[in-house]
Amino acid sequence: MIVFGTRFFSWGSALTERIWRCSKCGHEGQFVQKSGMRFFTIYWIIPIFPVSGMRKMVQCPNCKTRYQDNSPAPGAAGGQAGSGAPIASPWND
Ligand SMILES: [Zn+2]
Repeated sequence: MIVFGTRFFSWGSALTERIWRCSKCGHEGQFVQKSGMRFFTIYWIIPIFPVSGMRKMVQCPNCKTRYQDNSPAPGAAGGQAGSGAPIASPWND
């Protein structure tokens, strides 16, 4: 019997260029950039095909909380430099 399901996979370890501030633990600095997709799986861990679009997120290196990366692209008009407004809400699958 084959067990079907879905699972969220994420990858990536590059650091962000801008400074983020974690609203959970207060850490301020470069976050880890990650991409993720939800996959249809068999046996819980074997991905077969994606069932969602690519999502971008950043992860606090201190407490591992993930946030949705909804910042404007670097160089976009009106992009704020450095500190200031962090973010949305912690990431949920
Ligand atoms: Zn944190």
